[in-house]
Amino acid sequence: MVNSTPYIGRFAPSPSGPLHFGSLIAALGSFLRARSMNGQWLLRIEDIDPPREIAGASDQILSTLAAYGLHWDGSVLYQSQRLEVYQQQITQLLGTDNAYYCQCTRKEIKAMGGSYDGRCGRLTQPHKVGAIRIRNHYGVAQFRDQIKGSITVNSQFAAEDFIIKRSDGLYAYQLAVVLDDIHQQITEVVRGSDLLEPTCRQESLFKLLKQPNPDWLHLPLACAEKGRKLSKQNHAAAIDVVKPQASINAALAFLGQAELPPETQVSKMLEQAISQFDLSKVPRQSEILLVP
Ligand code: GLU
Repeated sequence: MVNSTPYIGRFAPSPSGPLHFGSLIAALGSFLRARSMNGQWLLRIEDIDPPREIAGASDQILSTLAAYGLHWDGSVLYQSQRLEVYQQQITQLLGTDNAYYCQCTRKEIKAMGGSYDGRCGRLTQPHKVGAIRIRNHYGVAQFRDQIKGSITVNSQFAAEDFIIKRSDGLYAYQLAVVLDDIHQQITEVVRGSDLLEPTCRQESLFKLLKQPNPDWLHLPLACAEKGRKLSKQNHAAAIDVVKPQASINAALAFLGQAELPPETQVSKMLEQAISQFDLSKVPRQSEILLVP
């Protein structure tokens, strides 16, 4: 059967620092996949966690993407502009008893064995303030990844009633990401393998909201050491915006794609990279150690 749904992909960085090699992999990988499917590639800035945000990082991310020739379609969606939508959804979930307030502390959850046991959801006199958790009716524990095949996560993790709004009033990533993937009509999510496990929670939410979930494609993570991905938090170096050609080639090689003769115009390199993009060559493993 021919799939006639137009492809819509996205890149969704958090503005917690400048783009580094690890985030370039997610940006370039999602871009090449979308463009090789003749699809759209949208950009969403996930700026709903002000304590983790670095001033100026959003603009720096946009200008770095532009310098790398990674041009997105349409306007940028900022999650900070969508707080009312998140709140409306939460109010609805609370009203239909699909979510509830929880006042358990980290210490109490640790005493439950590290996985929340749903106790606040069973109270006859429910709390009226606190963090808000979803009633995780579906508890999806297994999903299909486009390159890794069937993925199964820890069943306790999968079944947990997870937080959709934190006790400090901030909206949780899981809720915002799902509402925005629905809003932007994303057909396939391409991102790093650090988000493999949360994918189950996201599928559970899609089901609860009675929406079809996108396809999932998790790229390998660039790691400085085993189990330690390159990240803004561990101060991975920002990528070179003056001469992007070398970083593009390094990212192509990381994704199993052929390196290209460095062109003066990065757009020429990207055109070629799109035309020869081969998903079957992307490594299946979740982590790849970078040799210094
Ligand atoms: N904002 C997340 C990050 O920067 C990525 C979210 C996603 O791709 O689903 O790690």
